[in-house]
Amino acid sequence: MNIHEYQAKEILNSYGIPIPRGRVALTSDQVERAAKMMGGRCVVKAQIYAGGRGKAGGVKLVHYPEQAQEYGKELFGRTLVTKQTGPQGLKVRRILVEEAVEIAREFYLSITLDRESSRYILIASAEGGMDIEEVANKSPEKIHTLQIDPFTGLRAYQARKVALALGLTGSVCEDCVELLMNLYRACQEKDCALVEINPLVVTKAGWLMAMDAKITFDDNAVFRHREYPDMMDYSQLDPLEITAGKYDLAYIKLSGSIGCLVNGAGLAMATLDVLKEFGGEPANFLDVGGGLHGKK
Ligand code: ADP
Repeated sequence: MNIHEYQAKEILNSYGIPIPRGRVALTSDQVERAAKMMGGRCVVKAQIYAGGRGKAGGVKLVHYPEQAQEYGKELFGRTLVTKQTGPQGLKVRRILVEEAVEIAREFYLSITLDRESSRYILIASAEGGMDIEEVANKSPEKIHTLQIDPFTGLRAYQARKVALALGLTGSVCEDCVELLMNLYRACQEKDCALVEINPLVVTKAGWLMAMDAKITFDDNAVFRHREYPDMMDYSQLDPLEITAGKYDLAYIKLSGSIGCLVNGAGLAMATLDVLKEFGGEPANFLDVGGGLHGKK
């Protein structure tokens, strides 16, 4: 289950992770008022369930409130197509207006579940702000990873090693240790499958700050958090996926034209493979479950 950037930032902030001052707007007038509160110069950010917004025109630095309002008008209702949305794109219905931060350096930071080791893995890179997949392909040595032992948790010395590997020194290094420990605590307590800060920045004034945030909750743990369903923005989901979710069916929309209704994920994968091999394009992945008993 995904949430918006502003919601992810609120969670991180409740764990002591610094974020820019910001307001969420639902209309272009609210964008203007929020921009006034930020002092005019601010960053206007489209809230969609996907990254890559900057390159698609979904993040803009503006210099005065009227300009923020104009940009808000342009963005609301627009379908943003980014590298992560697929060709159909996602509609903008919420906008985050944030103070414009003077950035000195950008880093990549995430904690995610590593299925192979069944553990959380911390990933950090001094090449932040850009596609981490691109960094992984071009210069894998710039990516630092750390498997976290679930019994001992993340230890301060391990966090310090990561901070030093990012080239941080002095008080910023110590701030980073604290931030990493807090991020791990947030990840665990909120049952996240992914917590990503890209970019994590050092400001010109020398402070660490989360400039973007993405959180994916582990669907299997949503029942433990009553507040999660209310945090969902259904306008960001495909209506068919919402309906499938109601009936507890695993459904993923794909771009082809051949519908697949299969019982069991293994068989579903095999069916998709066979279709592809013979030149067909699946329209979906619909797994109604290995055992059909109890399905409505
Ligand atoms: P996306 O990853 O979807 O493109 P980001 O939140 O990473 O969106 O924003 C893109 C870039 O815009 C960031 O890498 C950062 O350089 C800049 N940026 C984002 N928010 C702010 C802000 N509040 N102040 C200054 N620059 C920002």
